[in-house]
Amino acid sequence: MPSVLCARVVVPAIDGAFSYRVKPADRHRVQPGMRVLVPFANRRLTGFVIEVELADDPLATKPIESVLDSLPVFSAELLEFTRWISDYYLCPWGDVLKAALPAGISLDEKRYYTYVGAPEALESLSALQFSDADRALLAALNTEPLTAEQLRRRFGLTSASPELKRLRAAGVIDLRPLLRPPLVRTKYDQVLTLSDPARAAYATSLFASLRSVHQQQLLREIHDYEPDGITRAELLRGESATRRAALKRLLELGHLHVRQEEHVRWDPRNEHVPHTADPTQLTPAQLGAVSAISEAVEAGSPRQFLLFGVTGSGKTQVYIEAIRRALALGRTALVLLPEIALTPFLWSRFYRAFGDRVAIQHSAQSPAVRYDLWRQIAAGRYPVVVGARSAVFAPLAGIGLIVIDEEHEASFKQMEPPPLYHARDCALMRARLAQAAVVLGSATPSMESWYHAQAGRYRLLELPERVGGAVHPLTRAIPYQPAVAADDSYEQYKERRFKRQQPAPEAPILSEELRTRIALTVAAHKQVMLLQNRRGHSPFLICKSCGDIPMCPHCSVSLTFHRKGQVLRCHYCDQREAVPARCAKCGSDQLSRYGIGTQRLEDELATLFPAARILRMDSDTASGAGKHAKMVSAFAAHEYDILVGTQMIAKGLDFAGVDLAAVVRADAELFFPDFRSTERAASLILQLAGRAGRRDVRGEVLVQTAVPDHPVIQTALRQNWREFAEAELATRDRSNFPPYSRLILIRAVAREESPCARALLKLRTLLKKADPFVDILGPAPAIVLKIEDRYRYTMLARVRREADSAGQRLRQAVRRAVDSFRKEKAEPGVKLEIDVDPQSIN
Ligand code: ADP
Ligand code: ZN
Ligand code: ZN
Repeated sequence: MPSVLCARVVVPAIDGAFSYRVKPADRHRVQPGMRVLVPFANRRLTGFVIEVELADDPLATKPIESVLDSLPVFSAELLEFTRWISDYYLCPWGDVLKAALPAGISLDEKRYYTYVGAPEALESLSALQFSDADRALLAALNTEPLTAEQLRRRFGLTSASPELKRLRAAGVIDLRPLLRPPLVRTKYDQVLTLSDPARAAYATSLFASLRSVHQQQLLREIHDYEPDGITRAELLRGESATRRAALKRLLELGHLHVRQEEHVRWDPRNEHVPHTADPTQLTPAQLGAVSAISEAVEAGSPRQFLLFGVTGSGKTQVYIEAIRRALALGRTALVLLPEIALTPFLWSRFYRAFGDRVAIQHSAQSPAVRYDLWRQIAAGRYPVVVGARSAVFAPLAGIGLIVIDEEHEASFKQMEPPPLYHARDCALMRARLAQAAVVLGSATPSMESWYHAQAGRYRLLELPERVGGAVHPLTRAIPYQPAVAADDSYEQYKERRFKRQQPAPEAPILSEELRTRIALTVAAHKQVMLLQNRRGHSPFLICKSCGDIPMCPHCSVSLTFHRKGQVLRCHYCDQREAVPARCAKCGSDQLSRYGIGTQRLEDELATLFPAARILRMDSDTASGAGKHAKMVSAFAAHEYDILVGTQMIAKGLDFAGVDLAAVVRADAELFFPDFRSTERAASLILQLAGRAGRRDVRGEVLVQTAVPDHPVIQTALRQNWREFAEAELATRDRSNFPPYSRLILIRAVAREESPCARALLKLRTLLKKADPFVDILGPAPAIVLKIEDRYRYTMLARVRREADSAGQRLRQAVRRAVDSFRKEKAEPGVKLEIDVDPQSIN
């Protein structure tokens, strides 16, 4: 049997690799790491070549329809890295490769509902046969084909809706596969230089031959840019028609040479670069850290460091110096930060240190910018990349150092869609593949990293003091009586919420003491930061006579009252409703707003301190390109006295004028039923403490809580993370949670509730059979049972770390159980979601 060239191809959302025949014409073009368009089931998809091989029996295999790249978009190293992610996170390799690429560059075939009648016929469709709604739908589909998802959004229809079925049966609409062109393409510049003859004649006869002064002028300018050349766009910027004509003439005369060059739609200066002074000399502690890290980089060893230092202790400066040395050794560097920390302040420090050798990646950039940066990074133009979670996939070659700042941040974990990867853990693996050193930095390291440092796997580097000797702020808990009794377990609290019992009357939002402190601070022309980790105005409305709470019709959560637009909004699916005048259940008009969101806090402050300038920062006000950055700059410039916000204000910001920081209600975090909730609560308090009184004055941090004596609040107030971590690790060990165990969360999602429960019970049996050693918790309904009309149940599979240090055994058991579950097709309506190392167990 003849051997024929075949490619192994992976596609998104489907496990496994598939063989395709390579057409003779593509024989010399196809390489691993390239994108290809392949027929799959009965549509066409963008897939990724992972291997090219000679194989037998080519007749059964379909050919690759077209090769989409002329060079591989994934290096061998990135292929290996993404394969590890696919394996570790139990998710199709094609999903990982898709997530690694900038969005909007792939061709994909989707099924679209299309109007298939003649356009003119639309006018004459009889009103008897079609309703107004039908005709509106047809008119929309005539303008533009729509996917099932778009139909759901715009018309509230699902594929099961009778309208669609009827229209399809009547033959006026059809579901057809269409290939969409990519949204983003490479843009080119035309770069002009003198042509060879023009260059040779430039000094002698050329000018004399030109009669127009415009032509002479242009030629002189182009000559000034020799030998690099100048782009046509730059040459003609804001110019007149005469110059255009002159340029055209020069081109016709053959005096110019034009070459195409890739255009980069990114300008580092657009990232707002304010100026602050840079330190000139490192402290001894910083120097020690930098040299330890540099040694590892130089040795090319994948050594791991935990850089533990309070906010303001100079960690960022350590990263910068260590990167400088990595560059000097000819290596490249990757810096990962939580999205929210990518502020102009931070960017400016990296930009001043590395100039045009550093690129930044964040979510406010357009797909075109991300695409250009991706290609330029791959081409080696930027040896330093600073970015959020997904920058872990940056196509940097020769990485010598990876930094993960604020490594404890939950936002490093991708929540949806798959792969549900954790950028920190992936970075550790990427570093290992690249033989690069890794620095994890934090003032409040995660329990995982702390545990590894204690065990000696990571080398602990400490920066024990704030630079310039700034002192720790004074911290104090203010006893505060909220609606939730201190001894309520969350289960009780939740039960009361779900039984819709009337909550107790609320205490004033701000205690007398906090109010006084705010007044004094503002009067002294200093700034105040108030953290309330909940956006909106009031988390719910409640009927005073019957206790009913308006809930989202699609999710099992209460609707949050938003003052802007006077609407009720669901924070899970963004359902919006007008505020009802009367209770839907009993008709009473006694509806009151309950609970505190940032808007309500802002209102309260405005009433109490009419002269103070108040800024609110949460995802309602600070999302959208540049908004967050503008707010940060404005507050730093003391254009406001009080900053109110969600946790986003506690992260990575450096405000010199803040003397008072307060947590308005600390308890919601603390009592959330998750094994990480105490860690989060304590970290948030410490992070906020880092914001107060950073330089010359001793700042003050106040925490309003119903449980001022709670050990977590107490250690947090002592600002002693080591003490907290030791106690917390002991608890985790006893309760068998990470880092002492490995977890995989399995979530069943379906339109009805009972199949979810059944599916997980079934899976539980399969899991027991696959490996009786695996410990199983649940199944149980998720805390938020329903989101966007889909019910959710969860189950947790767990093993002790010492029994399965790499987690191989647990992954294998889950993989086997899920495979047999899918094979049996016992619950076809249920979708299983698998979350390896879940951040939260809900
Ligand atoms: P962190 O990242 O730990 O919060 P930074 O590196 O941002 O700390 O340092 C905090 C502040 O101290 C910054 O304004 C920085 O410019 C300054 N700084 C850092 N290192 C030094 C140093 N060696 N000498 C003087 N100032 C420094
Ligand atoms: Zn009522
Ligand atoms: Zn909802």
